[in-house]
Amino acid sequence: MKIPFNKPYLTGKETFYIQDAVYSGHLSGNGKYTKKCQTFFEEKYKFKKTLLTTSCTDALEMCAMLLDIKEGDEVIMPSYTFVSTALAFVRQGAKIVFVDSGKSQPNMDVDAIESLINNNTKAIVPVHYAGVAVEMDKIMQLADRYNLYVVEDAAQGVDSYYKNKPLGGVGHLGAFSFHETKNVIAGEGGLLIINEDKFIERAEILWEKGTNRASFFRGEINKYGWVDTGSSFLPSELTAAFLFAQLENIEEIQKKRISNWHHYYNGLISLEKEGKLKLPVVTENATNNGHMFYIVCNSENDRAQLIDFLKKKNIFAVFHYLSLHNSNYYSSIHGGRELPQSDYYSNHLLRLPMYYELEELSIDKIVKTIKEFYSSKTT
Ligand SMILES: *Cc1c(COP(=O)(O)O)cnc(C)c1O
Repeated sequence: MKIPFNKPYLTGKETFYIQDAVYSGHLSGNGKYTKKCQTFFEEKYKFKKTLLTTSCTDALEMCAMLLDIKEGDEVIMPSYTFVSTALAFVRQGAKIVFVDSGKSQPNMDVDAIESLINNNTKAIVPVHYAGVAVEMDKIMQLADRYNLYVVEDAAQGVDSYYKNKPLGGVGHLGAFSFHETKNVIAGEGGLLIINEDKFIERAEILWEKGTNRASFFRGEINKYGWVDTGSSFLPSELTAAFLFAQLENIEEIQKKRISNWHHYYNGLISLEKEGKLKLPVVTENATNNGHMFYIVCNSENDRAQLIDFLKKKNIFAVFHYLSLHNSNYYSSIHGGRELPQSDYYSNHLLRLPMYYELEELSIDKIVKTIKEFYSSKTT
């Protein structure tokens, strides 16, 4: 039996809510289901204001617009991340200044940030890799000291915490993803999290194609028009209806994913003790939201062979980011500063199958196969 890398989970109510949205006659954005989803996040995580978006990429683009990022501004972020983290700011003209990953885990090395700050620096964008929080206190202190904004790319960080604060709610702005590979999904979808009052009004305008339509519908003004830049960042009610079914089940989804994570961890710990590979690290002030289970192989060669070995047994494991500072698009602008830890995770990290319906028996099989691989290697 094939064990895929990911399998989108359906709670069973998605099409019921979509049908309700369809027959209620409001299909475009910002209707009943959009409000239900936003209210869910504002109540459960006490976020000041949230706006559903068509993707996390879009939510990050909105952040770059809200911060008025322009040509000549610099934005600091990890190199070991998805393209969107950088792209959202590059589109506004920013220069990206990449930070290396940590020594013992892939998140950005917060101690390497300060020396990269100069008069052009506008923002820091921490990425909570695998849903494990970046050391946010240090970042917020730097932001205070140098008058910078902090945008959390919490695409993988739904329902995870830093010192009891939900991710996305620690910086000035934050973004979630509901792409089908994430914990709660909508096919494609995202959320902008606004933690400062001063951004709320403008965020609503950017969201609705640069118009003050949201104030109009609240009865605050008697006609609406073009007042700012923006785009069509809001998803249709069909997407929101799907997402709402997922949100109703978030606790069950999280419980199962976290349990799967521990099942992997307990199964593979002996290999870590033998020095054959490394397991994920959940740092002291962070929680684990069961977004991802990865191992770090000892060599690139080990990883390539293990991927093949697993594939022959119908188990699909995949590596992850390629350092953005080495990408075709950005390496010449980056200019050669070496980021060895980011490259190390690009070349050694391997993600194992992780999804709600993954059974413990399947995890046992994956663990057994990995053990077979390592014992066959030494003989
Ligand atoms: C998934 C992901 C994104 C992109 O999310 P979309 O909703 O697909 O736009 C951005 N950043 C990180 C870290 C991600 O994991």
